[in-house]
Amino acid sequence: MLFLSVFTKNPDMKKIVFLCVALGLSVASFSQTNTNAVYNRFFTGSTMRVDYYHTGTAREEHFSMDRVLNDGPWAGSETVLLDNLNRGLYFFKITDTLTNTLIYSRGFASIFGEWQSTGEPNWATFSESLRFPWPKVPVKVTIEKRDAKNNFVPVWSTVIDPASRLVNPAVLKSTYKSFPYIENGKSASHVDIVILGDGYTAAEMDKFHKDVKTLTDELFSVEPFKSRKADFNVRAVETPSATSGVNKPHPGVFNRTPLSMSYGAFDSERYALTFDNRTVRDVAASVPYDYMFILINERTYGGGGIFNLYSTVAADNKFSRYIFVHEFGHSFAALADEYYTSDVAYQTPEITVEPWEPNVTALLDKANLKWKDLVKPNTPVPTPWDKTEYDNFSYAIQKERRALRAANVPETEMEALFEREKKTSLDMFGKNKYKDATGAFEGGNYMQFGIYRSALDCIMFTRNKQAFCPACSKAITEVIDMYSR
Ligand SMILES: [Zn+2]
Repeated sequence: MLFLSVFTKNPDMKKIVFLCVALGLSVASFSQTNTNAVYNRFFTGSTMRVDYYHTGTAREEHFSMDRVLNDGPWAGSETVLLDNLNRGLYFFKITDTLTNTLIYSRGFASIFGEWQSTGEPNWATFSESLRFPWPKVPVKVTIEKRDAKNNFVPVWSTVIDPASRLVNPAVLKSTYKSFPYIENGKSASHVDIVILGDGYTAAEMDKFHKDVKTLTDELFSVEPFKSRKADFNVRAVETPSATSGVNKPHPGVFNRTPLSMSYGAFDSERYALTFDNRTVRDVAASVPYDYMFILINERTYGGGGIFNLYSTVAADNKFSRYIFVHEFGHSFAALADEYYTSDVAYQTPEITVEPWEPNVTALLDKANLKWKDLVKPNTPVPTPWDKTEYDNFSYAIQKERRALRAANVPETEMEALFEREKKTSLDMFGKNKYKDATGAFEGGNYMQFGIYRSALDCIMFTRNKQAFCPACSKAITEVIDMYSR
């Protein structure tokens, strides 16, 4: 609300209203054609970053303004300004206050949103950021959240006048070394990924470069990223740390590193996140970026991915390549986990509404399955598979996993368990009649029953193979299209 009080009349008001009339813009929104003209009229070419605090309990949430900064040149699309994919727990809208025109929108998820679903009874505050093209005129920023029926409803709004003295237009001069890994062209027409590293000492920077190469090459060996590699730029930023490795509270290994990466987020031993949003955003802004990845210089299995925030992965684990691609599925395309037998930190409510994630369905309306265009007429929906056999096996594996973790065994023993799990489940899946079909297979999104996925296997389900199911592939392609036009 701070920014409402500094709202000032913009001298360009008349000019802009005239331009809107000339461009045939409606007051509610604009048509997606001609959007390049819209971009040039409404935005300067820089990135506005709004840092705010997201505070609350499991039952309530509040927002408060932190600061408004210039995050460097705008790296996103100049033509696809509105997000029509309907993904994320949250959604933000930028509206021109002079004409009441919606000029930018994006879906996103947040650490607060995940924290809230753990049922933790106490209060907590997380720093979050919204990034959008720097407006020439005062804009209304609105954050919306899903209601019980998964419709977006406003939860916070504020007005920002870019000419206000409380808006800082200075660009942070990065003191970090950055290097390009893949350069295919202009940021505006490419998906720009920035890779950060934490727990790498100055002497380990060659290893960081090698890890960036190994994992990036892996991502672009998996479809649909493989066919669309020319639509991406990948750059990395070095943040050398005084000691090697990051914080690991479960085994009692404590560390302080520049990006504050830590295992044990929400008390899940394998969930690795950083809550230091302000620092991470400042480092990432050393290069133009749409999506962020943080490599952790660790062997211990772990990672995480939050839609439109970042993905993380432990770079030295036997399954790092799998985790890298899997977590990017979460942060890039808002894909749900398709697994359901492992321990997770969330409490999942009873299923009465269709989940918004593009790769899982509650199948409440069989005739309108969200990936129905990918299903052949002779495939039954729901699609039969040897679920009981798989569930018995998989729950037994999870029990072994918990026992190994509790005993703090060497990482090799855990990796051996995962290898055994992979071999047995591949054999099981191979016997299924519909093993290659697209349909609706029960089990997914942490739910043993009542949620369905599009294929028997997928990188969002198991560590068996590096391939996305058809629903996931389609969802990823739609995001690549959004950022490469
Ligand atoms: Zn999938």
